Amino acid sequence: MPAIQKDDFIQSIADAFQFISYFHPLDFIKAMTKAYEAEQGEAAKDAIAQILTNSRMCAEGHRPICQDTGIAVVFLKIGMDVKWQTDMSVEDMVNEGVRRAYTFADNKLRASILVDPAGQRRNSGDNTPAVIHYEVVPGDTVDVICAAKGGGSENKAKLGMLNPSDSIVDWVLKTVPTMGAGWCPPGLLGLGIGGTPEKAMVMAKRAIMDDIDMADLVKKGPANRVEELRLELYDKVNALGIGAQGLGGLTTVVDIKINTAPTHAASLPVGLVPQCAANRHIHFTLDGSGPADFVPPPLSAWPDIGWKPDDLATRVNLDTLTKQEAATWKPGQRLLLSGKMLTGRDAAHKRIKELLDNGEGLPDGVDFTNRAIYYVGPVDPIMGEIVGPAGPTTANRMDKFTDMMLEKTGLVAMIGKAERGQVGIEAIKKFGAVYLMATGGAAYLVSKAIRSTRLVAFEDLGMEAIYEFDVENFPVTVAVDARGDNVHETAPRIWRRKIGKLPEPA
Ligand code: SF4
Repeated sequence: MPAIQKDDFIQSIADAFQFISYFHPLDFIKAMTKAYEAEQGEAAKDAIAQILTNSRMCAEGHRPICQDTGIAVVFLKIGMDVKWQTDMSVEDMVNEGVRRAYTFADNKLRASILVDPAGQRRNSGDNTPAVIHYEVVPGDTVDVICAAKGGGSENKAKLGMLNPSDSIVDWVLKTVPTMGAGWCPPGLLGLGIGGTPEKAMVMAKRAIMDDIDMADLVKKGPANRVEELRLELYDKVNALGIGAQGLGGLTTVVDIKINTAPTHAASLPVGLVPQCAANRHIHFTLDGSGPADFVPPPLSAWPDIGWKPDDLATRVNLDTLTKQEAATWKPGQRLLLSGKMLTGRDAAHKRIKELLDNGEGLPDGVDFTNRAIYYVGPVDPIMGEIVGPAGPTTANRMDKFTDMMLEKTGLVAMIGKAERGQVGIEAIKKFGAVYLMATGGAAYLVSKAIRSTRLVAFEDLGMEAIYEFDVENFPVTVAVDARGDNVHETAPRIWRRKIGKLPEPA
C-alpha cells in the first residue's frame, strides 16, 4: 500500500472543511425537506423554509451556511499498517489543513477559536487548533471525519451521571427543554450511553456524524434495545413541541443517534450532544492513492421552496420605529424589517457599559434612541459582497446588559437568536421593549437582506464592532413582546398539548 503523502492529507482536511462550510449532507437536506412538508406551525415552517433556502443558496454560492463556521472537530481511525510520507505530526497536519480551509481567500471562514480560554482569550486567527480524537485500528488506511460545530449547539451539550435504575428517556425529556432553542433546532441529538463521563460525551459527539436513517428505522421497526430507545426518544422529543428555533411545532429532531459502551455496575453515564441546523460533517478514507474527492449533492436534492418575503408578515419601517408601534406586536408574529439597525454583541455591550459607568457617554455617532440592535458577528465579505453570512448570535448572553441598554440608551428592539433569560425578559417588560428572533442557520439568506453597512464605532473589535446595517425585508419573529410574553415558553406548551403524546409538564 503506498504511503499517505503529507500534502494529500493536509489538502483533504482543508477541502473537507471548505466543502462542509457550504454543503449540507444529502441525508440532512432530505430529512429537513420532510420536516418542512409536515410542519403545521406557521413560524416554524417559515424558519425551516429559510434554513432550506439558505442551504441551497450556500451550495450555489459556495458561502458558509452559518456565520459561526464552527470549531473544527476531527475523528481519525488510523490503520496500524499505514505508512506516512511526512515530516509533520498528524496533529500538525490536521491543524495545517484547518488553517488552509479557514483562511482560503475565496471563502474565508470565521475564525472563532480563542487560545488561553481562562485568561486573555486571544483569537488564534485561523481557527486552529482542531479538537482531534484518535483511534488506532487494524488496516492500512486512514478514516477521517471532519465536523464544524457551532458554539450555540456545543454550549447546550449535557452530561448526566444517572443511577443505574434511572430512566434514560425521562432524563432526556427533562433535559432537552432546559436546552432552549440556542442549539438551533431542528437538528439531531447524539447520545453516548455507558463508559465513563468523558467516554459518554465523545460517543455522543461521534454519534451525530452517522447517517440520518430515522425514516428507515420507523419503517422497519426496532431490532434491538438501542433502536427501541432511538424510536421512543425521536417520538417523545418531538412531542415536546419545541419545534424549529423553539417557535413551537412538530419537528425538533430529525433523528436520534446513540452509541453505547460497557460501563461500571454503579454507573449510567449519558452524554447528550445536539447537532444544530448547520449540520456540517463529512467522512472520507485515505489509502495513499491521493487526496480525497468530495461529491456535492445534486441541486435537484433541494426542494423547490425559494423562501421570499411574503404578505402574511408585517412590514416594519425601522427608520420611524417607536415604542408605541413595537408594543402592538405579538409573540410569534412574523415581521419584515426595512431601514437602519445597529449591530453589537458581547464585546460592544461590555464596552458600552464601561463607557456609561465611567460617565463618558456613547461614542460619537452611536445613538440607540428608537433603534433596533442586531446581535451579530458576520463572516468577512468576499469580493462583491456587502457583508458575509450574518445570522444572529445567541441573545441571552446579552441579558445582563439589557436593563442598562434599555434604561440608558433609548433602545426599543433587540434581534438575536433563541430564548431570552429571566433577567432579559424582566428588563424588556420593565421598559416596554421587544425581542425579535432571526433564524439561526440561515445566515447567508439573512445577509442578502442587508443593503449597505457602515462602521459606526469600536473598529478594533473586528466582527464585534458596531455597524449600521441598512436592511430590506429582513425576516424576524417576535419572541418577547412589550408585556414580557415569551414565545419560547408559550409556543412549545401549545404544541405539546396539540401533539398530545406527553402529559402537561408539572
Ligand atoms: S445554526 Fe445556530 S447553533 Fe448552529 S452554528 Fe449556526 S448559530 Fe450556531
